[in-house]
Amino acid sequence: VKLQGRNHYQFYQPEINVQASESLILENSLHYALEREELRIFYQPQVNITTGEITKMEALLRWQHPKLGLIPPEQFIPIAEETGLIVPIGEWTLRTACAQNKTWQNALNLETLTVAVNLSARQFQQPNLLKLVSQILLDIKLNPNCLELEITESIAMDNVSLTQEILSELCKMGVSISIDDFGTGYCSLSYLKNFPIHCLKIDRSFVCDLTNENCQAAITTAIVTLAHGLNLTVVAEGVETEEQLNVLRILECELMQGYLFSRPLSVEDATRLLRKSTTF
Ligand code: C2E
Ligand code: CA
Ligand code: CA
Ligand code: CA
Repeated sequence: VKLQGRNHYQFYQPEINVQASESLILENSLHYALEREELRIFYQPQVNITTGEITKMEALLRWQHPKLGLIPPEQFIPIAEETGLIVPIGEWTLRTACAQNKTWQNALNLETLTVAVNLSARQFQQPNLLKLVSQILLDIKLNPNCLELEITESIAMDNVSLTQEILSELCKMGVSISIDDFGTGYCSLSYLKNFPIHCLKIDRSFVCDLTNENCQAAITTAIVTLAHGLNLTVVAEGVETEEQLNVLRILECELMQGYLFSRPLSVEDATRLLRKSTTF
């Protein structure tokens, strides 16, 4: 089956089968993506709203497929999760992102630059997660304070007592935890209070049409107030306009991430950006 033949096959195959065979093709080649060194990490800065300083870089996976070009994570991470390939891929991502952060810290004198890495549910369920994280930090000699792990509300709520245990251990290690896409899942507030977390990331959907006078603003205000009440830092995701930025300033949201500052960048471009200036 050739991907180029897609339109041709569509002629006599139901759409659903075309999609199924496409994802089968992706699944087959995803098995080799790691060893063939086709995975890339892009980095997107998180910027301090008052100082303009870049304090964190979020690691975002891409797949440089030899035939299909750059594949976004939404197209292959679900497959990686279903097949369990997310475990080795996630380990590679964690190690590579930590190593890259150490390289930046050393080369650019940025001792406190933090890297944020997304964890999937499958990784979070691995019994050796804590050992893996501490081994990577040790190997790379990265200060644990300079690593943040992003988990979603659904991961956190999946098995509350286990989550609490793992998060406590990570916290003891010095690693920070943030709750990603906050507001889109079902994170019970009483649990939130008990989890040792550091940061809430407000989902892009709330930031998206954030203007002074609509209900998105009311929700965002509520999330920021809640987070501050629990002593958490707030990151707004997907900030694209000056107008959104102004509202977030008024709300005293601490950090921002979005196209207004920078798109996710290749290592080369991210290095160029950090070298030029760490302040926007
Ligand atoms: P996410 O963790 O919520 O990451 C933020 C997504 O929003 C990124 O998409 C980023 O490029 C995009 N974004 C940032 N600023 C803006 C903006 O101003 N406007 C708009 N429209 N979009 C913006 P990306 O890189 O395609 O990643 C999509 C998702 O894939 C991520 O969502 C995350 O859930 C997942 N993902 C990416 N890398 C990894 C990884 O290493 N491991 C795991 N488990 N998941 C990952
Ligand atoms: Ca994230
Ligand atoms: Ca997010
Ligand atoms: Ca998201």
